[in-house]
Amino acid sequence: MSDIKTTAIVLAAGQGKRMQSKVHKQYLMIQDRPVLYYSLKAFEDSIIDDIVLVVGKGEEEFCREEILKKYGFRKVREIVEGGKERYHSVAYGIRAICWSCDYVFIHDGARPLVNDEIITRAYEEVKRSRACIVGMPVKDTIKISDEEGYVADTPIRSKVWQIQTPQAFEKNIITPAYEKLLADEEKLSAEGITVTDDAMVVEYFMKIPVKLVKGSYENIKITTPEDLKTAEILMDR
Ligand code: C5P
Repeated sequence: MSDIKTTAIVLAAGQGKRMQSKVHKQYLMIQDRPVLYYSLKAFEDSIIDDIVLVVGKGEEEFCREEILKKYGFRKVREIVEGGKERYHSVAYGIRAICWSCDYVFIHDGARPLVNDEIITRAYEEVKRSRACIVGMPVKDTIKISDEEGYVADTPIRSKVWQIQTPQAFEKNIITPAYEKLLADEEKLSAEGITVTDDAMVVEYFMKIPVKLVKGSYENIKITTPEDLKTAEILMDR
């Protein structure tokens, strides 16, 4: 047993509007199991000690019975209700950690193809760098557009990464970062900043460098119906 304690926050409180399905995307089935099952299983079988599961309002009991009990997950110590935006859900997840924890891993429950290799790489890196995020170098050229839909800029491709989860941080970095965000939420939106990942919060409020760690091109997020088919194919291999 290691002295270092880690908690994973698994996010499943999104509405998944781009999926155009009545069932929220984290509960859609891939090979007879809900999408959310796969990321919980990866963390359950990993170096992670505890899990906080963040779910939508009124979904706590369903998750407890139909996912945690049904599949025998033991590391989920707390189920909490999420918030309006992803960053609210993360903040509530962090606030729920009331046990010994050195590092927090934040993961989208909609990324079922996360695996032990990726979690371990992030674990080794966060111990070195204090803050790291999983991603992959982009394969396509990326363009920044202006308001009229014209190309405004072309970032140097070799320096551009697509960002995934988990994102892992020392607990005493990520906790104040998110508290500052909640306190300064209005200022940020007045500046036109939309928080789409956790590293942004650390970069903006803590001014701490965040290291990039290789994830996998297969660690996709289920967003639209075709992603579900892709995930099924990738799992079959
Ligand atoms: O919406 P998006 O695909 O970026 O969501 C990424 C993850 O964050 C998903 O697992 C989703 O369930 C979660 N989320 C959340 N609370 C929100 C919005 C998204 O837990 N308010």
